[in-house]
Amino acid sequence: MATNNQSQASKLITILIPAYNEQDVLGQLISRLEDVRVSNVLYDFEFLFVNDGSDDETIQLLQKYSERTPYIRYIDLSRNFGKEIAMLAGFDYAKGEAVVILDADLQQPPELIGEMIEWWEKGYEDIYAVRAKRDGESRLKKWTSNAYFNVLQKISSEEVYPLAGDFRLLDRKCVKALQELRETERYTKGMYGWIGFKKKGTDLLCG
Ligand code: UDP
Ligand code: MG
Repeated sequence: MATNNQSQASKLITILIPAYNEQDVLGQLISRLEDVRVSNVLYDFEFLFVNDGSDDETIQLLQKYSERTPYIRYIDLSRNFGKEIAMLAGFDYAKGEAVVILDADLQQPPELIGEMIEWWEKGYEDIYAVRAKRDGESRLKKWTSNAYFNVLQKISSEEVYPLAGDFRLLDRKCVKALQELRETERYTKGMYGWIGFKKKGTDLLCG
């Protein structure tokens, strides 16, 4: 008998993880992502890894994880292209209505993804974690990073957010816009501003 109270399909969220020689952290990363998944039960998730020509055991581990777990998928690039191209490949294969870009090395806490989803549900389309803390970076790294962003801001007509990285949730609309920019010499951090959309910087401690 047909029923009227069929539940609506959950929204799918892709967690996109570029990975280059990350064999040592993959197990821990997947277990932290699993916690995120079970604390956000109203959503479906896919964990989409992009193996960027690793020469360690990253690909063997991804094969193993994906065989066991239906929502773990991977793309295997033919060589090392760099994170920017790895992200673009991921955009092409991501199926989610939103895509969260996350580094494999756990420098960015996956636990913040729940909060990003809340902002997305409030109508924001590009929710990025602001790096409020820079402990652990050397003074030279801080100085070069600041100098770099100052120069970039001078030559750019768009606002550049020095403390915001690639750790962000992008609505599918933003992903589509980034996909349409097919430059091979990519600097995605400079593209987020350019594509527009409704942005939200979350005051999250990160990095
Ligand atoms: N990465 C990649 N290809 C590369 C270099 C890095 O896919 O050629 C991935 C890496 O595995 C990690 C993310 O990009 O998930 C950020 O890399 P990394 O931690 O080296 O960068 P940083 O922390 O210095 O920004
Ligand atoms: Mg890192």
